[in-house]
Amino acid sequence: MPIYEYKCENCNHAFEKLVFMGNDEHIECPKCGDIKVKKLVSSTCHINSLGGGDCAPSPSRGFS
Ligand SMILES: [Zn+2]
Repeated sequence: MPIYEYKCENCNHAFEKLVFMGNDEHIECPKCGDIKVKKLVSSTCHINSLGGGDCAPSPSRGFS
């Protein structure tokens, strides 16, 4: 299950939240309760559209 990073646009509180598949539309800020939160791209392993990334892709993950 992925853990996404969010940032509240109301109070700028950043937080992480465990999100189940397809259940990321009702995220609210745990600090102020505002639902205007912005999903951030995880900084742990980000591969962009140009083929670059912050980490090397795994050669084998068992679902090829
Ligand atoms: Zn907030």
